[in-house]
Amino acid sequence: MTNTHCPYCALQCGMEIGPGLAISPRTDIPANASGALCQKGWTAGELLTNGERLTTPLLHGEPVEWDVALDYVAERLAAIRAEHGPDGVAVFGGGGLTNEKAYTLGKFARVALGTSQIDYNGRFCMSSAAAASIKAFGMDRGMPFPITDLAEADVVLLAGGNVAETMPPFVRHLSGPRVIVIDPRRTQTAKLAWLHLQPTPGTDLALALGMLHLAIADELVDEAYVAARTTGFEEVRTSLASWWPERVERITGVPVYRMRQAVRALAAAGNAYILTGRGAEQHAKGTDTVSAFINLALALGLPGRHGSGYGCVTGQGNGQGGREHGQKADQLPGYRKIDDPAAREHVAGVWGVPADSLPGPGRSAYELLDALGTPGGPRALLLFGSNPVISAPAAEHVAERIASLDLLVTCDFVMSETAALADVVFPVTQWAEESGTMTNLEGRVLLRSQAVAPPEGVRSDLDVIAGLAERLGHRFETEPVKIFDELRRASKGGLADYSGITYERIAAEKGVFWPCPEPGHPGTPRPFLDSFATPDGRARFVPVQHRPAAEETDEDYPVYLSTGRVLAHYQSGAQTRRIAPLVQAAPEPFVELHPDLAEQLDISPGDIVRVSSRRGEGKAVARISDAIRRDTVFMPFHWEGANRLTNPALDPTSRMPEFKVCAVRVERDS
Ligand code: SF4
Repeated sequence: MTNTHCPYCALQCGMEIGPGLAISPRTDIPANASGALCQKGWTAGELLTNGERLTTPLLHGEPVEWDVALDYVAERLAAIRAEHGPDGVAVFGGGGLTNEKAYTLGKFARVALGTSQIDYNGRFCMSSAAAASIKAFGMDRGMPFPITDLAEADVVLLAGGNVAETMPPFVRHLSGPRVIVIDPRRTQTAKLAWLHLQPTPGTDLALALGMLHLAIADELVDEAYVAARTTGFEEVRTSLASWWPERVERITGVPVYRMRQAVRALAAAGNAYILTGRGAEQHAKGTDTVSAFINLALALGLPGRHGSGYGCVTGQGNGQGGREHGQKADQLPGYRKIDDPAAREHVAGVWGVPADSLPGPGRSAYELLDALGTPGGPRALLLFGSNPVISAPAAEHVAERIASLDLLVTCDFVMSETAALADVVFPVTQWAEESGTMTNLEGRVLLRSQAVAPPEGVRSDLDVIAGLAERLGHRFETEPVKIFDELRRASKGGLADYSGITYERIAAEKGVFWPCPEPGHPGTPRPFLDSFATPDGRARFVPVQHRPAAEETDEDYPVYLSTGRVLAHYQSGAQTRRIAPLVQAAPEPFVELHPDLAEQLDISPGDIVRVSSRRGEGKAVARISDAIRRDTVFMPFHWEGANRLTNPALDPTSRMPEFKVCAVRVERDS
């Protein structure tokens, strides 16, 4: 038996891998101590055995020896750098990579390639919540409290999260409190809720403003908390004057009495939490939307109290750790800012290079993909643990940009849609074939231990990076535990300080919360109890204003599209679409539409429906359901199609694309 964690989502359920790759849940990991796993977790062993595994490097589709592929890529990279400069090469990472890989990738980009052009698909995940948390609290740690605290609360408000489908064991932590769900669909989570608010897509920000307006009007603000622990409330109070509830009802479609019911429940609760998920965050105004929910939480006196708070429900397996250690365009390890001279000195010292040799901030994920192959943009792309042809917005445009590159290199364990376009594909280890740390949605650093040997011919992403680095004149470590020791030194003194965490401690303590600045430090499950990570220790109210979605419906595109997940699949589906029981459970993409809209469009259940936006077209099977609003259709994004339609309009702060709302036309395919 080997103790490890699930290969998929940010809950990182504990699991054991036994003889015959039998999976069973662990009961010593708080996220799923009840012994729960979802169907993805139970079937994870099949990831290791399914017949579509890549085991040989491919050069222009032909199998080659490892040295041949590494030599080819290194020579091409050197030539492209010589012709176009260091930023001619770009690196794109993933929120599923271990901390060791994310750290090494960031170092490789800045030291071996000298490029500023590195970002990762986590930008598409929680970057709006991260940006808003930093503004308010001075620090971004998804949930700044253990997940088990939720069960003790009286009320939990979940804005734009469908945990009953995306991470079902999470629901067991919600069995105690009254749950309020904000979602345009009556999702599985909404069906479990005490109260469901169903706003028009793209109007969560107005809803949060209206709720805070009501809290102030009904004298529900925790004035003592606001005075003692926050700054900026008066400015926010003034900025809310025009967001009277009836106006908000007109914009959102949520009745005033429902808003008031939610606010009063939160205010009356002894302990309460406000959580946000992708539904509220994946918008061109996602950062402001999260700021508005944090403002509501602060006004009600929730953050920084034991038993109450604000948190973001991170999605990808290492979405949290992935953004802490340097694969984001503007960050260095330890959640340091790349344009901070002291941060550059510290990290450059650990890396043994002059600080002024480190590049500055690069393009954000979508901007990077959009620039590929353009004049002044990168000519080569190294892709680790991501499948942007399926998962990026305006995916057809992204595929065109990728096709215009001089060199595309991917590291993958199956032939994903993006790997199929690559000049070189390196077959790499996955999950149970390697060891490494993951940081889950609570900020708890966990250890995934190697349980099985990788197939012959397969190497780690770390070997690929070291092999390329060596050919470019640099020595990179490949042993995860040694890389983690270097990461600890690089993170020391940063916001996400891992310096007191070791593999031994993680195994013995079933995970350690960062910040953990010394070997004897217990870790920090609830970092804001005494003060926030701002210069004055107070949380900051941030005044924000609602505005419409970047693309509203019109005569040509009269229906809103919202995208999301289903229980059986994960992210772009590259893994889960190859697992037989998961394919059986959810075999194909679908378009969910309301019976009234279906009747109006003469669409019946099972019809093939064509959905078009200004960016492209997708087809899927019709599902008729009154769980969706009449003005909206829903498509899951695990298959090709949904992201051909989505809008790459970016949030000005987080650079998050507007995945959750765009305007489409819906027709029965003749
Ligand atoms: S996918 Fe998420 S919820 Fe499901 S078993 Fe894995 S970690 Fe747990």
